[in-house]
Amino acid sequence: MLTEETRQNYIKHAFATCPFCGSQDIVGGSVEIDGNSASQDVSCSNCISEWRDVFTLTDIEEIRDGRPPFDLEPIKLGLREHATVLAALRLWQANHDSVDEGDLMEIATNGGAFNRLTEAEIDDLCQKLNLGSK
Ligand SMILES: [Zn+2]
Repeated sequence: MLTEETRQNYIKHAFATCPFCGSQDIVGGSVEIDGNSASQDVSCSNCISEWRDVFTLTDIEEIRDGRPPFDLEPIKLGLREHATVLAALRLWQANHDSVDEGDLMEIATNGGAFNRLTEAEIDDLCQKLNLGSK
């Protein structure tokens, strides 16, 4: 019979030894996944005891966000807003080489989610904004 201490000891030591006899001669079967838990039957070749390792999902780690880049809904700007956006773009473009980090870079890259616009892309955007203002 397994005690709570024996079970916790087994878990702490990365389930490397038989919880009954301490032998390292243990063999695990296939891992069965059921929802957010998984289990694996394990047996000891030394004392022929058998038990089940029970795993619980505790966290996930992002490997890749595969969603395609999205476009925002169109908005209308007032004349002053439009002029300020253009001025800000030209200021950003003029300082393109001197800004490598900081709050503005966070905004321009959506927190590093994508690369900032190149100077040529800013030109295109300014042209697009000018054409859209007609
Ligand atoms: Zn054993």
